[in-house]
Amino acid sequence: MTSRPPLLLTPGPLTTAPSVRAALDRDWGSRDRDFIAVTARVRTKLCALLPEHDGLTAIPIQGSGSFAVEAMLGTFVPPGGHVLVLVNGAYGRRMAEMAARAGRRVSMLEGPETEAPDVAALVRRLAQDPTIRHVAVVHCETTTGLLTPLADVSDVAARHGCGLLIDAMSSFGALPIPASVRFEALASSANKCLQGVPGLAFVLARTEAVARAGGQAHALVLDLAAQWAGFEANGQWRFTPPTQCVAALDRALADLDAEGGPPARLARYQANLAALTDGLAAHGFHPLVAPALQAPIIVTFPAPDAVWWDFAALYDGLLEEGFAIYPGKTAAAESFRVGCIGAVAPPDFVRFGAAFGRVVAQLSQAAPRA
Ligand SMILES: *Cc1c(COP(=O)(O)O)cnc(C)c1O
Repeated sequence: MTSRPPLLLTPGPLTTAPSVRAALDRDWGSRDRDFIAVTARVRTKLCALLPEHDGLTAIPIQGSGSFAVEAMLGTFVPPGGHVLVLVNGAYGRRMAEMAARAGRRVSMLEGPETEAPDVAALVRRLAQDPTIRHVAVVHCETTTGLLTPLADVSDVAARHGCGLLIDAMSSFGALPIPASVRFEALASSANKCLQGVPGLAFVLARTEAVARAGGQAHALVLDLAAQWAGFEANGQWRFTPPTQCVAALDRALADLDAEGGPPARLARYQANLAALTDGLAAHGFHPLVAPALQAPIIVTFPAPDAVWWDFAALYDGLLEEGFAIYPGKTAAAESFRVGCIGAVAPPDFVRFGAAFGRVVAQLSQAAPRA
């Protein structure tokens, strides 16, 4: 007998709905008219998730979210171009590494993991160095769960004539991107707030910027301008598409509509966040990030300063209770993370809080006394 798989309280792959998993259960010819129609529908629906989508195009790409981010940086920052990356966590740092690997000139504006990027420092840096033509920023830093106010960053970038590149991986589909945010491109993936399955990512970009970016990319398969030209020419993918993942995303986008769109999804995630933080507060655990900056996506909890603390034991105990959590990724202190996203609802987090209490009680009772 196989045991029931755990509920994933992780930031993607995450818990998906039975409807999305059922959509995986058929084969598609990648060149078939039916599959071409699915791809076209998904591209249109992805753009339509933003209120202001005139002049935008959606470019799906095979792979995990990082593939889309690396493709975005290599396609839109031209050879010889200089990009400033705002870094307050691991994903910002990864973008800087990707741009450097692509041979682009990279500067970083680094700040503490528990604070939003320093907009005044951004103004100074862009004023000092006119060679910087792009700014790259992470919307929700999944390292901590911190939300960056995008409008301020966008205003400053626009005032200095810089293109804005956004890693909206863990926010797109739930958290609003204000209409005032003028990005050149934005990367996300199927398996986060859209609640699809992993294997498919995408970039939303200004069509005029894509048309200008031909021939710039550092890698053949990560060339979004060529990927876009392929879709525009015959509706087909350049290389083998993750057909089932595309079909599952198509279904997940229909489910998102049925739920009431991104505002309804955000409301559910906010209720998840409240149930999660209440449940863990009852056992003395509180989020690392200040409430004003905490996104309802993933929460980092600092590890307790206690002899019984052992992430692996906590993880195993929770797994026995039917929940998978996520290890910490913060640079400073030891921590663990719990995701609020996916096909999960507040009652799941109430059960999680109770299970967490039982596991912590077991671990602390079993620990040797100091
Ligand atoms: C998930 C995520 C990524 C991409 O990670 P993959 O493991 O490649 O899917 C990039 N940036 C952020 C902020 C993320 O949350």
